Amino acid sequence: MRHIENDANLFSKAKLAASNTANPGIDFMFTPQGDTPVCNQSCNGCYYFANYKPGEKAISSGNIPNLALGLAESGYHNLFLTTSELLLASNWEELLRATGNKYVNTNGRIIVTRGEAILDRMANAGVEQIVITANITRSHQSLNLVPQNVVETAFRKINSYNASHPDNTFGTEATVIMTAENYDRVVEMGDYVHDVYQANAVKFIAYMVVDGKGGLPELMPSKLQLAMVAEQIAKLREKFNLDEFYVQRGGSLGTQGLTSEKLEGLCPAGDALRSVKSFAEGAEVTPCIYIPQVRIGQIEGGKVVIDAGKLGEFTDFKTRALDEGLCPAFAINSRSSYVNS
Ligand code: SF4
Repeated sequence: MRHIENDANLFSKAKLAASNTANPGIDFMFTPQGDTPVCNQSCNGCYYFANYKPGEKAISSGNIPNLALGLAESGYHNLFLTTSELLLASNWEELLRATGNKYVNTNGRIIVTRGEAILDRMANAGVEQIVITANITRSHQSLNLVPQNVVETAFRKINSYNASHPDNTFGTEATVIMTAENYDRVVEMGDYVHDVYQANAVKFIAYMVVDGKGGLPELMPSKLQLAMVAEQIAKLREKFNLDEFYVQRGGSLGTQGLTSEKLEGLCPAGDALRSVKSFAEGAEVTPCIYIPQVRIGQIEGGKVVIDAGKLGEFTDFKTRALDEGLCPAFAINSRSSYVNS
């Protein structure tokens, strides 16, 4: 297994950590094909589709390089690409260059169908880390994720590519979605990612139905279940040498059981990170891709303009949610509406 200490395997984490209140990042939501939201899978409760109203146009991938230039001119240098399946975009290499990204989030389907050819292109484009969402069927049955055998095959193809290209290997990470059905299986799923995928890292995140759309609210874990997930993650971290198999706890799992040192910078939403899905005049700027229903600013003359009052309201709410142990997006999406009280 690849030794990951001091290399860029955790590039995605490092990039997020570089966003702060003095240097806020921007998450771009866009469509990889045409101008409407599309994907090659339809997972239950997908945050991507929940961001769009029926018939709403999306930013086309072809517009991203120019938009990235414009944002850099107005002071936003830390840019994130958020879409359904990045590799569906014909210009995905150009998008990585425009945003300086060295990692790719993918559902794995295109790695399975195109194999070495796409991995060669990724290596040539400077990709250092590939992140794929796990489907461990016993635990993810209701989510309609990419089938278990497809995800396993994608990891197998990357591992075999790494073995035959020792000077040009990819770090790998699996994202594991925690639900009300699998909250007690963290260790089992961590072992699976380590043994079957042979990934370098695992990241646990919470299932949430964004803005009440297209998902199964009953699968959102309770606060008690999130606390149990956090306890098991701590156990899993003791089990492995983290330089070889990194165990990451996503911000969406909340703050229960975290030390105050770890709490620092856990949630960049709003003050250190903003999300944009349109540059049309008046289009909303929101605090996080999981909170499309909260506006903290708008687009004016092609620029991101933050409304200090609305941002203040959100950050007050964020402080209270984090104090209560919850990720702000999880708190908002587990209630029927955004309640500022
Ligand atoms: S609101 Fe939650 S999901 Fe969004 S950045 Fe904060 S911790 Fe992460």
